[in-house]
Amino acid sequence: MCRKELVADSTAADNESVIGDECHIISGQINGPRHDIVFPVDQIDAIDNLILLCKVHHKIIDDQCETYTVGLLQSLKSNHEQWVRTALEQSTHEGIRIRQVTENIPSHLVRLMTGQDLLTILSNAHGYQFEHDDPKSETETNLIASFLQEAQDYGELSADLEAGDRVQTAYRLSLLLNELEEGGFWAFGSREVRKLEGGVETPSDFTISILRIVRSTNSDIVKVDLEISDEKI
Ligand SMILES: [Zn+2]
Repeated sequence: MCRKELVADSTAADNESVIGDECHIISGQINGPRHDIVFPVDQIDAIDNLILLCKVHHKIIDDQCETYTVGLLQSLKSNHEQWVRTALEQSTHEGIRIRQVTENIPSHLVRLMTGQDLLTILSNAHGYQFEHDDPKSETETNLIASFLQEAQDYGELSADLEAGDRVQTAYRLSLLLNELEEGGFWAFGSREVRKLEGGVETPSDFTISILRIVRSTNSDIVKVDLEISDEKI
């Protein structure tokens, strides 16, 4: 009714907060607002009988139920749903999108042998594309999860790293690569430049950091002799 945002964004330390109230259009209570004796009890909490409102409008519609009738609330709700639908369609048509550029898609990923290799892949990326082979145990799941999480954290921090920090970070990443290898996994990576288009800004580069955690026995791994010609690679 007032189009106030009803979910507060999460913070570094906390989850989102739902500010809105889920209100019943037809109350399940005999003395409640808009109670209808013939309305099926099992439909009271159904989505069709609920409307999300701010606390102020929740109070108003329940205090003034002669004004805010079932029919009026249903049409307010369906008008709002239509408004959201239209707004979402417009944002996909006119909004910002990230386009892959065919010639920039890497043909292969390179094994990351050192923390410096890994830091180069992660540094100053606008986005991340992380993939991994299926873990076969909880230990493997934790190993891959903590590796990728830490890799992303360093990637996000990379713009603020000074020379000394970069040495420390590269060393930390080397240790992580060793742990990964001891657990039977290798890291491969590359970078891909996509185009950020739409909106009011002129198109710009959008760099993706691609990281793939592969079981060291995976048959997709191809050993390439760098002495041979580029064509063979
Ligand atoms: Zn409101």
